[in-house]
Amino acid sequence: MGCSNLSYCSVMLLILLVFLAKAPAIQSWGKEGHFITCKIAQPLLSKAAAKAVQELLPSSAEGDLASVCSWADTVRFKYRWASPLHYINTPGVCNYKYSRDCHNDKGEQDMCVAGAINNYTAQLITYMDSSSEGTYNLTESLMFLSHFVGDIHQPLHVGFADDEGGNTIPLRWFRRKSNLHKVWDFDIIDEAEKDFFNRDVTTMIEDLQRNITEGWSDEVPAWEKCARNAIACPDGYASEGISLACKWAYKDVTADIVLEDDYFLTRLPIVEKRLAQGGVRLAAILNRIFDSNFVMGGSVQSS
Ligand SMILES: [Zn+2]
Repeated sequence: MGCSNLSYCSVMLLILLVFLAKAPAIQSWGKEGHFITCKIAQPLLSKAAAKAVQELLPSSAEGDLASVCSWADTVRFKYRWASPLHYINTPGVCNYKYSRDCHNDKGEQDMCVAGAINNYTAQLITYMDSSSEGTYNLTESLMFLSHFVGDIHQPLHVGFADDEGGNTIPLRWFRRKSNLHKVWDFDIIDEAEKDFFNRDVTTMIEDLQRNITEGWSDEVPAWEKCARNAIACPDGYASEGISLACKWAYKDVTADIVLEDDYFLTRLPIVEKRLAQGGVRLAAILNRIFDSNFVMGGSVQSS
């Protein structure tokens, strides 16, 4: 944009500043977190599930699920109703109850990230049923589900209503201004990439994949399983989330605190495990949705 007219340019600058000041706090794993979760999930899909995912992905994704895992954040202005679907607020307690906590500001039930996971799972199941063809936009259902399974694993996406999952707790992350929610969405992942992975997200993903097949391998079957052969079990993921939020995210944090290496190094293992769990569980859910041969509640097998 050329700036030949000074007053025009100052007005435009002012409008831009007002817009930036009013932009809502982002409530989502950052782009990187969603990318990592989906990159972990896709190679864990069974042949049949991988085929269904390929068919449903928009052509712009070029077959890469991770490339559309932040789509739900990009449509937050277009689909305002979907805004509460990225998180759950508890009334300041360290436990979660679907009937008490899964609603939007107007009190409409099911309008939270756990309700959204159930809803988009149910929609995607119709993929196998030709009689319901065209009822839902299953491409959007897949992109929503892949995003929300990521979100529910970010501990502060199941946080306290009063502080909006840490969004209203300003602090410093090392020297920079941040807030507690943002620390868990972006800053910890960003710092880890810088300090340990040569600023390369692929190296971080490979490290997590190694942990899934080695360090955490004993726990992985339990991550994948849902009670009563359910296809997805977001209530369990949400209960883990608020418990981790209390034990690690909120712990010892007060407004205007400076968080540095102590906080970073003790919380990074939690973030890494949640990213891995999100990926493993997304794959398990998609396998159970799309692969009729897949044993319900069974284990993810690499295709
Ligand atoms: Zn989100």
